Amino acid sequence: MTMADAADVTIIGGGPVGLFGMYCAGLNCLDAQLLESLDRVGGQLEHLYPEKPIYDVGGFPKISGRELIEQLKRQAFQYSGRVVPNVTASSLETGSLRHRIHTNQGIFESRVVIITAGIGEFIPRRMNIPAIDQFEGRGLYYVVNQLSDFDGQRVLVVGGGDSAADWAMAIADRAQQVTMIHRRDAFQCHKDSLRKLQSHSAVALVPNRSLLRLEGDQQVQRAYLQDTKEGPLADPLTVDRVIIAIGLVAGTAIFQEWGLPLEGHEIRVASDMSTGRPGVYAAGDVATYPGKVKLIAAGFGEVATAVEAACKFLGA
Ligand SMILES: Cc1cc2nc3c(=O)[nH]c(=O)nc-3n(C[C@H](O)[C@H](O)[C@H](O)COP(=O)(O)OP(=O)(O)OC[C@H]3O[C@@H](n4cnc5c(N)ncnc54)[C@H](O)[C@@H]3O)c2cc1C
Repeated sequence: MTMADAADVTIIGGGPVGLFGMYCAGLNCLDAQLLESLDRVGGQLEHLYPEKPIYDVGGFPKISGRELIEQLKRQAFQYSGRVVPNVTASSLETGSLRHRIHTNQGIFESRVVIITAGIGEFIPRRMNIPAIDQFEGRGLYYVVNQLSDFDGQRVLVVGGGDSAADWAMAIADRAQQVTMIHRRDAFQCHKDSLRKLQSHSAVALVPNRSLLRLEGDQQVQRAYLQDTKEGPLADPLTVDRVIIAIGLVAGTAIFQEWGLPLEGHEIRVASDMSTGRPGVYAAGDVATYPGKVKLIAAGFGEVATAVEAACKFLGA
C-alpha cells in the first residue's frame, strides 16, 4: 500500500460506536474504513442481545439491539466508507505521517486511528460452579438470542446489575415466573428498572441469594440456592431456564502491547478522546476518563468528539 492509499481515518471495531463514527467521518467527507473482527458489524447489540429492548438511546423510546444496529448501518452506509469484516487489529505502529495497523489480513494504513473496540472479544463471565456448564443448551443461558425461548417458562435470572434487570424485564411478560437473585443486599440496576420489576406480578426479586448448583435430567429442572448470610437453602427452586447475567470478561488485553495509556482494561483518553499518541483516539466502552459511563448514548457523543478532533488533526 502506498501513502496515497492510506485512509484518512480507520475505525477499529464495528459496534454501535464504531458505526456512528463511520457516519460522523462521512459527514466530514473523510475517507474512512472500519475494521471488524467478526463476520458482521453490530458489536454487543448484534451478538449478545439482538432481541433485548433498549430504552435509553435518545429518540428511541424502545428499540431492540438488532433494530438499532440496522438504523446505525443505514445512517453510516449512506457514505462511501469501507467496512472490512473478519479483520482483527493486533498491533499499531506509528510513523511520522501515518499509522500502520497490523491485522490477521495484513497491514492497513491510516492517517488517523479511532479505536472503538468495546470490550474486545465477547466473553460472558462464567459461574464458578462445577458442572454447571453441562446445562448450556439445556436451559442455561449466558447469551440470549431468542426471547421466545422463555415463553411460559419458570426462569431464574442470576445477577443484580443492569444486564440482569434488562433480561428480567424483557421476558417478564412472556415467562410464567421470573426469579431474579443477587448475592448482595441491594440490586444495582437502574432505579426505574427496579421499580418496574418490583411491581410486575410475574417477577420475584430476591437479594442475598447465590446459585450453588443446578440439577436436571435432559434439561435444567432445579436450582439450589444459598442465603449469602445464613447458608444453603434445603429446598431447590423449580426452574426451566436459567440466565446468568453477571457481566462480561474484558477481552482487551491486546491493547497492553500498543503503548497506549491504560487504566485497567480501558484506554485513558482526554476530553477530545485523544490517547496521547498523535492521531490516535478511542471512544465507547474501550475508552475511559473520570465520570465515564458505559452506555451506547455516551459512546455516540464520544465518537462524534473523536471525529471532530481527528478533523482538526488532519486539517480537514
Ligand atoms: C446484556 C447487555 C445489555 C445492555 N443493555 C444496554 C442498554 O440497554 N443500553 C445501553 O446504553 N447499553 C447497554 N449495554 C452496554 C452496551 O451494549 C455497550 O455500552 C455498547 O455495546 C458499547 O459499544 P462499543 O461500540 O463501544 O463496543 P462493542 O459493542 O463491544 O463493539 C466493539 C466491536 O469491536 C470489535 N473488536 C474488538 N476488538 C477488535 C479488534 N482488535 N479488531 C477489530 N475489531 C475489534 C468487536 O468484535 C465488536 O464488534 C448492554 C450490554 C450488555 C452486555
